Amino acid sequence: MDIATRLIHTGASVEPVQGALSVPLYHASTYAQPSLESFGRWDYARSGNPTRHALEEAVAALEGGSVGCAFGSGMAATSSTLLLFQPGDHLVVCDDVYGGTFRVMTKLFAQWGLTVTFVDATETTNIAAALRPNTRALFLETPSNPLLKIIDLRAAATLARERGVLTIVDNTFMTPYFQRPLELGCDIVIHSGTKFLNGHSDVVCGFAVTADPTLGERLRFVQNAFGAVLGPNDAWLTLRGLRTLKVRMEESQKGAKTIASWLADHPRVSQVWYPGLPGHPGYAVHQSQASGPGAVLSFQLDSFELTKKVLEGVRLMAFAVSLGGVESILSYPAKMSHAAMPAEERALRGISDSLVRLCVGLESPDDLIAELDRLMNS
Ligand SMILES: *Cc1c(COP(=O)(O)O)cnc(C)c1O
Repeated sequence: MDIATRLIHTGASVEPVQGALSVPLYHASTYAQPSLESFGRWDYARSGNPTRHALEEAVAALEGGSVGCAFGSGMAATSSTLLLFQPGDHLVVCDDVYGGTFRVMTKLFAQWGLTVTFVDATETTNIAAALRPNTRALFLETPSNPLLKIIDLRAAATLARERGVLTIVDNTFMTPYFQRPLELGCDIVIHSGTKFLNGHSDVVCGFAVTADPTLGERLRFVQNAFGAVLGPNDAWLTLRGLRTLKVRMEESQKGAKTIASWLADHPRVSQVWYPGLPGHPGYAVHQSQASGPGAVLSFQLDSFELTKKVLEGVRLMAFAVSLGGVESILSYPAKMSHAAMPAEERALRGISDSLVRLCVGLESPDDLIAELDRLMNS
């Protein structure tokens, strides 16, 4: 079944008592049990909630997985997934990973005895060179944030499998609408559902999905034991947002393509990073593993003064952290998504003081271009 159909119908069986087409919102924290011998389907809401379950089923099915776990944030999903490992284990991580992921790995899990090596994962040979006897997983993000670097997921997953190592992919930027890492051989997909999956800038949530039943059981165990679960209200909102993922992704991508081309020709823009531009170094690899370049792009202006003027002058676009909503958001990675990264680490990764990230929403691209043009020329 095409993903367009699955988006509407997964996790959406008609509610049997009243016939409701929308999944009911169950707030109950506990459920009455029919007998001492056998408990019902639901007992305590940390372990399972019918509204959350409908959302988990939907996200798992969209990613081509068998188990989906919903968490209270993307970072809760990442941290809970990292709890699959043990002190002494080692991970290989792509170097421009999300700032919060960098922080939790280097500040919290390091303290706990998990070691990480950051590599430029755009070359599979760099990943291979970083593997150690105690390496347990690759942790990758493609396109990466904020420089939209592309990692060859099939090559990485093949290498990992040969070496008995798991491949974990943060698929937040693409969503299963454009890219399904499990189908490319990866083992676990992570999402900040706060972004495109919910899509309306009104929920913080996260997911971990796998197609492997054993890993699924272990993830479910961590979800219940560690307890960073998503509440029913936010699960309901996210399920509603998810239904329109196709139209939102298609429209936002259309706008991003138009704006990326316009920026690439602008005299005050020194560089544009967008996997939809044929000059992007990862263009071919991205095309081989995803069905579209998505809605996020980054660009570098020719001075810090102009960067400040644009960020402080925008009215149609919000100057804010986050992405993936119906409204366009302009962010400043050096002080926002990557503020958790020390300045020297940022510089090493090419995250300069005149780098701007744009996530295109559903406004008319012509209006957005007119606003940028006014700020960049006056
Ligand atoms: C936002 C984000 C996260 C963290 O998600 P939260 O929901 O904010 O905890 C992780 N990865 C990527 C790529 C993100 O954009």
